[in-house]
Amino acid sequence: MTHTPEHFSPLVQLYQDMDNTWNRIAQQYGFECNGCEDNCCLSLFFHHTHAEVSFLQFGFQALPHKDRKRVLTLSRDYCRQTFCETTAAHNPPASKKIPCPLLKNERCTLYQFRPMICRMHGLPHELHKPGFNVFKGPGCDAGKFAGQTYIPFDRTPFYKQMAVIEMNFRQLTGKTGKIKKTIAQILSDSTM
Ligand code: SF4
Repeated sequence: MTHTPEHFSPLVQLYQDMDNTWNRIAQQYGFECNGCEDNCCLSLFFHHTHAEVSFLQFGFQALPHKDRKRVLTLSRDYCRQTFCETTAAHNPPASKKIPCPLLKNERCTLYQFRPMICRMHGLPHELHKPGFNVFKGPGCDAGKFAGQTYIPFDRTPFYKQMAVIEMNFRQLTGKTGKIKKTIAQILSDSTM
């Protein structure tokens, strides 16, 4: 396994904390993610931090050549189908339920490197934004959470920590500008 550069350590630690929290709450619900028709890996998600993009690309570069080639082809197909073919009709583009290019045999090829939104998805949650009402997310359909007692899952501290990590990462790397990319877009520009 390739050594993970030190500057990714805060992100790795945050991901671990997210996973621990998610697993603990899922266990309390008795929820196990076994895939479903509304699979989140078929959803159109955008990612917004340079730190996460760089970490995912780092993981991608450590894959065997044949896997990189497969993922690259799938990523470019995904982008063509989702963005080029729909841009005129849909702005923003609609999800076409195309599997994420990292999904293989119902597993994530870069599970260890998957971004925050992939880790947080599924469970009922809350989000506190200054100046706004508390946002409550219902959780995915597979969990059948409606009617169950809500187990508090506040995403806010994780989002705040991610903002700090991103700020530090930008200072360290000189990366700037807003970012809004799917996994496919992040990986389709990768070099072999
Ligand atoms: S990165 Fe992995 S967990 Fe996230 S959508 Fe793609 S396959 Fe699923």
